[in-house]
Amino acid sequence: MHIHLLGYTGSIQHQEAGNVSLAVTDGNTSILIDVSGAPVMALKQAGIDARDLSLVMLTHSHIDHIYALPSLLHQLWLLGRTDALVIVGNGSTLSKAKELCAVFALEHKSGMFPLVWEVLEEGPYLGPLGRLRLSVFPVPHGVPTLGVSVVTGDSKFVYLADCTADFAYPALAYDAALLIHEAGGTKEEESVLTGKGHSSARQAAMDARTLRSGRLVLCHLPPDPSLYQKMLDEAKSVFERTELPVLHETYEV
Ligand SMILES: [Zn+2]
Ligand SMILES: [Zn+2]
Repeated sequence: MHIHLLGYTGSIQHQEAGNVSLAVTDGNTSILIDVSGAPVMALKQAGIDARDLSLVMLTHSHIDHIYALPSLLHQLWLLGRTDALVIVGNGSTLSKAKELCAVFALEHKSGMFPLVWEVLEEGPYLGPLGRLRLSVFPVPHGVPTLGVSVVTGDSKFVYLADCTADFAYPALAYDAALLIHEAGGTKEEESVLTGKGHSSARQAAMDARTLRSGRLVLCHLPPDPSLYQKMLDEAKSVFERTELPVLHETYEV
């Protein structure tokens, strides 16, 4: 499978990148995880035709993770999508996402393709995703939030969306070839970050080490890029195979 990084900042965008969002592809299957920025453009840049999306997965209801959903659905309608689109998330996230779409009465547009809202609080998504197996698990954050595990064959990708580190990890968070983990700042800011439901780069690296990840990519970064090298250094001192995110990078797992 391939993981395409479509954005990597936290709530505040900077001149190079927008809010974190990523796509997972394998063969004809494509999953969009969180919807921010200019989603159709970002998918095109990753070589993915948005009309072919198999699934949209929303990790939580914070604005930086879901605000572009109405625009994505509107564009899919304009582009002539007819197949139903499944949108997966926990109950509180989907109710916020539905409110967002209701503002624009998207589901009442003439010829609108069916939206299938599928609540998933924990465990596997059972719909068809080709060879991919997607599962979710709750992670600690200010609002109910899901971590995501995607497996194909014996390869695993884990995404720890906004969360504090060092929680009771489920078995499916372990042994990922690639872990993408939020990192909101440096270790000096840990008490503030934890209070807001976030992690430092050092804490992300500690999670990667505990979870026996093959490789760690930091995301949900703060708006000041001058902090990034320091964050990378402190993370690498704990977990050597740590990388900063690269916009439009495709990671093969
Ligand atoms: Zn966020
Ligand atoms: Zn959040």
